[in-house]
Amino acid sequence: MFSGKRLACTQQARPNIWLRDNCQCKSCVHEATKQRLLDTFAIPQDISIKSSSEDSSSIHVEWNDGHTSHYTKEFIQSAAAPFDKRAIVRQGLTNIKLWDSTVSKEDTSIRYEAPGAKNEDYLIRGVLNRIRKYGFCAIRDTPISPEATLDLLRRISFIRETHYGGFYDFTADLASKDTAYTNIALEAHTDTTYFSDPAGLQAFHLLEHSDGTGGESLLVDGYKCADDLLQQDREAYELLSTVNVHAHASGNEGISIQPYKGFPVFEHDAGTGELLRVRWNSSDRAGVEMPIGEVGKWYDAARKFDALLKKKENEYWEQLQPGTVLIFDNWRVLHGRAAFTGKRRICGAYINRDDWISKYKMMAFGQEEVLGKLASG
Ligand SMILES: [Zn+2]
Repeated sequence: MFSGKRLACTQQARPNIWLRDNCQCKSCVHEATKQRLLDTFAIPQDISIKSSSEDSSSIHVEWNDGHTSHYTKEFIQSAAAPFDKRAIVRQGLTNIKLWDSTVSKEDTSIRYEAPGAKNEDYLIRGVLNRIRKYGFCAIRDTPISPEATLDLLRRISFIRETHYGGFYDFTADLASKDTAYTNIALEAHTDTTYFSDPAGLQAFHLLEHSDGTGGESLLVDGYKCADDLLQQDREAYELLSTVNVHAHASGNEGISIQPYKGFPVFEHDAGTGELLRVRWNSSDRAGVEMPIGEVGKWYDAARKFDALLKKKENEYWEQLQPGTVLIFDNWRVLHGRAAFTGKRRICGAYINRDDWISKYKMMAFGQEEVLGKLASG
């Protein structure tokens, strides 16, 4: 996506040690788990090919240690593909569409189907396709209950627990000491920047809003605004991609969660240069990892990104209604909320990134394709 950030890739020969280590036979790879069974470092360092032959789809190798290996040509070829091609299946890189406020005209919602319904698979597939494409999906006509919401989320994957709990169902008050639990407006941000592995998906279901108004939900495409910044000011983009920022969650008695290291605002796939994750939460920000005399540079770059995030044309507002579950990619899409009055009851949860991407990849590519790319990803 960000062609300017791609690392150079070269095609290289497959060293014998790699080829032998990635033998796909039943004694080298467990048939069911695809785990490596062979002892890699028992392979002689100077392992060599005694003889080889090929047919239209496969290559057969007889090694000088007496073992015989068979590889499909596709397997051999995909391992030598450029890094960006090799990342497609691993990262689930399909049809990612950057958006601005006009996303309101796109097909970002889907109608709920009950578990066991004929279209159940269609629903989860449709939800995950939209989340991968736009970074969010609204599921309409969901039964207005925490139980139905939890069940829907569990059809994607299991719920992530944090120090706030797992699946939540709360009515706006100050029971938990976090700004999300008050009725003030919240600027667009990503959640859980204070974890080394921030929440992958976040879901909201507004179950009730009575005796008041406001509380519209705000979504902003972090990938799109990052791309805007790259076009506008490459230096600022690179600074936000390299300077580590720390974060914390300290509102609960006896707890101060901080990631094991700082992370930059923008993180990229080391192989492809693809933007993977945006971390943006001014409330939870702690130290910026620069010499104190230079830290002004980070603020200058961050101010430029902040201005893009706050541009009206980058904002997508939606008034959630009971029955609509909003699920979004917290590594990509920033969320916020307008101030509100009255009583609001919301339920929701987090799902880990690795878990939802796994589900997405299996649905988008199929098990055979995903497992077939393990050695080349
Ligand atoms: Zn083997």
